[in-house]
Amino acid sequence: MNNLPQISIVAPLYNEAETFPHLVERLNALMDSMSLTIEIVLIDDGSRDATPTLMRQLALLDARYHCVFLSRNHGHQLALSAGIASARATEALFVIDGDLQDPPELLPDFYREMQQGYDVVYAVRRKRKENVFKKGAYFLFYRLLKSISYVDIPLDSGDFALISRRVADVLIKMPEESRYLRGMRSWVGFQQKGFEYERDERLAGESKYSLKMLFALAYNGIFNFSEFPIKFMTRTGAVAIVISLIYFIITVIKKLFFTEVIEGFTALLFVIILFSGVQLLALGIIGEYVLRIFFQAKNRPLFIVKEEIVNSEYVKADAV
Ligand code: UDP
Ligand code: MG
Repeated sequence: MNNLPQISIVAPLYNEAETFPHLVERLNALMDSMSLTIEIVLIDDGSRDATPTLMRQLALLDARYHCVFLSRNHGHQLALSAGIASARATEALFVIDGDLQDPPELLPDFYREMQQGYDVVYAVRRKRKENVFKKGAYFLFYRLLKSISYVDIPLDSGDFALISRRVADVLIKMPEESRYLRGMRSWVGFQQKGFEYERDERLAGESKYSLKMLFALAYNGIFNFSEFPIKFMTRTGAVAIVISLIYFIITVIKKLFFTEVIEGFTALLFVIILFSGVQLLALGIIGEYVLRIFFQAKNRPLFIVKEEIVNSEYVKADAV
């Protein structure tokens, strides 16, 4: 298989040894059922379980598997970016989760849609099989992001998508450090189409996204694709100034014409505390943007590949 594949299926893996055999089984069945030439790009995101060993064994036996090993855990978005950058497909890249929550069997359907003239066919979750709290949080977050973002990011769609070679090339060229791929994918443009599906439950193991990581992802969505937080602070400031001016005028009039002095130490204290809070919040929001500039300015590589196996051969071997 020296010719380049038509399709690359890209899946990041972090401690997914439990799901691995099932993933391989389903991917093999899928490849056997399709006439397209397919490579599977698996990215080990610094797993601490047997995942990299299993990947190595498989890739050395089966030339359809192209395995990339990162030097440490870089997080889902960067692992995915590494996979997109390594994929050699000439036609399209199918981005899925390695925990089988995104059924790979949908590839033929997505591919058919793409043939209708789309560059991106992204999955839209019709139903989620997750707990009520998570579902509610996702529901609110996507709606908030849509209402404040300057990019039209589709509702309820994750990274699960089929993207054309040229869209992948644009994504690879985008140097942003705090990545929010589903937003970047929308930003790219071209013809895009949503495809509804039901998101399965995780096959085995637990979600590798901690609450902290989910928040970091949500922050990246908000601060990288919206000017709303800054605008919001400006507006709050403007409204506060208007209100206080009116109040000031009323006070002066009362003092001059009615010689009344307005009392209210408690109210004063309350307002001081309130606006100290607002100012700290505003500083924090500016800080979020400054922080992003700071990290971007370092211009570090996005991810570090320590090992790579293509066509059952090491193109890059771990030195030790
Ligand atoms: N993942 C990764 N690096 C991480 C966290 C997750 O590569 O630091 C992978 C994980 O193995 C899975 C995919 O990203 O294949 C989605 O992660 P997960 O299922 O934990 O997220 P959820 O579906 O709960 O949002
Ligand atoms: Mg999952």
